[in-house]
Amino acid sequence: MVVELADIDQIAVLGAGNMGHGIAEVAALTGYDVVMRDIERDLVDDGYADIEWSVEKLVEKGVVDEDPATIMARIETTTDLAAAVTDADVVIEAAPERLDLKRDIFTDLDELTDDEAILATNTSSISITQIAAATDRPERVVGMHFFNPPVKMDLVEVIYGAETADETAETISDLVETMGKTPIYVRKDVNGFVVNSVLAPYVDEPAWMVSDGAATIREADATMVHERGYPMGPFELSDLTGIDVGYHVRNEAGKPIAPIVQEKVDAEELGRKTGRGYYEYEDGDGADYTVDDAGDFDHLRVEARMVNEAATLVGGGVATPDAVDTGMRLGTGFPEGPCRRGDDIGLGTILEKLRALHEETGEERFEPAPYLVGLVQSGHTGKTAGRGFYDYASSDDDPGEYQAIDYELSDDGLLEIELDRPERLNALNDAMTESIVDLLESVDEDAVRAVVFRGAGDRAFCAGADISGFSDIHPAKYAEPTEVFTLVDEFPAPTVAAIDGYCLGGGLELALACDLRVATDDSTFGFPEIDLGLFPGGGGTQRAMRILGEGRAKELVFRGTQIDAERAADWGLINRSVVPEAFEDVVDAYVDDLLAGPPIALRRAKRVMNGGADENLDAGLEMESQAFSLLLTTDDFVEGAAAFNEDRDPEFEGS
Ligand code: NAD
Repeated sequence: MVVELADIDQIAVLGAGNMGHGIAEVAALTGYDVVMRDIERDLVDDGYADIEWSVEKLVEKGVVDEDPATIMARIETTTDLAAAVTDADVVIEAAPERLDLKRDIFTDLDELTDDEAILATNTSSISITQIAAATDRPERVVGMHFFNPPVKMDLVEVIYGAETADETAETISDLVETMGKTPIYVRKDVNGFVVNSVLAPYVDEPAWMVSDGAATIREADATMVHERGYPMGPFELSDLTGIDVGYHVRNEAGKPIAPIVQEKVDAEELGRKTGRGYYEYEDGDGADYTVDDAGDFDHLRVEARMVNEAATLVGGGVATPDAVDTGMRLGTGFPEGPCRRGDDIGLGTILEKLRALHEETGEERFEPAPYLVGLVQSGHTGKTAGRGFYDYASSDDDPGEYQAIDYELSDDGLLEIELDRPERLNALNDAMTESIVDLLESVDEDAVRAVVFRGAGDRAFCAGADISGFSDIHPAKYAEPTEVFTLVDEFPAPTVAAIDGYCLGGGLELALACDLRVATDDSTFGFPEIDLGLFPGGGGTQRAMRILGEGRAKELVFRGTQIDAERAADWGLINRSVVPEAFEDVVDAYVDDLLAGPPIALRRAKRVMNGGADENLDAGLEMESQAFSLLLTTDDFVEGAAAFNEDRDPEFEGS
């Protein structure tokens, strides 16, 4: 027997350091009683103080609306291991990264905890199987790999040791979800698990290329960031995490080290922490590459290796393509995962690149994964072929077509579109705008009577355009961001933006392209583009002028300041500001009216009101009168009049 989610009352966290205190905080925020243990009183006290500070910040920012004292009251601290774990249903170990230490801890845990308790480790690189072997219950030992800082990072890898039972992994996965985070299953205990395995070539390959004189550090960083949309350049990232960290991991795994990495380690130039790494921090400006450095770097060589690594994981049954991609997006902020990107680039191209490099260098790291070869041989070369890592023909397995959004079209004609990148505050990126465009263009318009846009998670409707994605926009593509807003604006059925949280930049432009806007009173609105040297370029300047009038629109655009929902309602930027508890009911009331309304009249009203707004009064009136006479010939009008006479609710058919 293993504890199930419903049985979990108390969680013990071992270690009050960086990760331990963060994990304890997450558990307490979720409502669990937590005991946090470290080896010395000072250390637990420091950890406790760190949690207190962070909880207060979260409450101050409105991310959490519980009394800080209530949250803190759930956390006990101790230096006594037995006291910490005797009543725990789940123990999460976050002690230093040493196998001998972890094995000692797990031997003790096996004796001190209830037989059914789950013993989880937050290790980033040690084998779960080896840790579990220190116990007599390896089936109840599992990896629970949080990312730093646990409170902010959404991802948790749930890692199977060789003997971990499915029930154990499932309970931990359920627990992660309850904590408001996203679990991915890592079904085999491979070195680096999923995220660090795919991340390794991202930093390793550019290091080889620079060592061989095939690229410069700045070229590599600038190209990966400004042309390929990654959140940080590979050298910038190594400097941040510490060049020695990646070095030790590769060394221990018996993998060759690129000469430039060896030089840096020998010179003890390890990155930010030593003031100098690939860039100068103490005597220089740090990672000072610019967009002008981008261009010639052979990024395919790096991406091909990441896709190959993903293929190794998928082919080896370690993780599904979806788990790999989710892991990379949430764990590292990659714009999309390697499976998705491989499918986009074309797996044939990837394989060809790997083979050419393998032939040229003889290096093992370019050897194509059998799974990748198999995909290409069976014609599954990616999105264009309809199948690659993902099957684009089957909608169940198609994260591609509607990546970054979720949608549902109900039988009564409500099309709900959820902007689904909560980890990036639902920021608009290419995938999201393309998905919305594709959906609105392909949906059966006649079947849709109303559209509602929402943001996933509880923090944002949409916090704007993803800045890392911006760099990916080439001048020729620059005109395109308006396409999505135009389509929303011109969609025949009425549209509603249901706004809960940040509604900024491109997010506000999307909301303004909708017909109606309802928001919670803790939402925030603004156009921060000016601070980037831009202005809202998706129709925002024009729609804001028409909706708000000149003075207020210019205030938002010129000053870049944010306004709260009360002022937004006062200005007419939104239709209603409501308390969060009433939000769903109010949105439903708006939507119900639209769904029950006469479809033809609503569409015509939308068209003449949108069209007439840009005409003089006479032209507007002419449009109105033409549309109006048409309505007099509809069955809906007959039904509306009959219902009125019979004192009943009309049933409009849209004919
Ligand atoms: P840390 O050094 O900040 O904290 C470790 C704490 O554990 C220290 O306070 C130490 O006194 C305490 N400790 C030592 N022996 C202990 C014992 N027997 N019982 C309880 N506590 C004990 O380290 P960290 O960064 O929090 O890392 C902890 C674990 O999390 C490691 O396994 C690490 O690999 C993993 N991890 C770290 C990160 C990260 O970015 N720091 C990310 C994911 C996972």
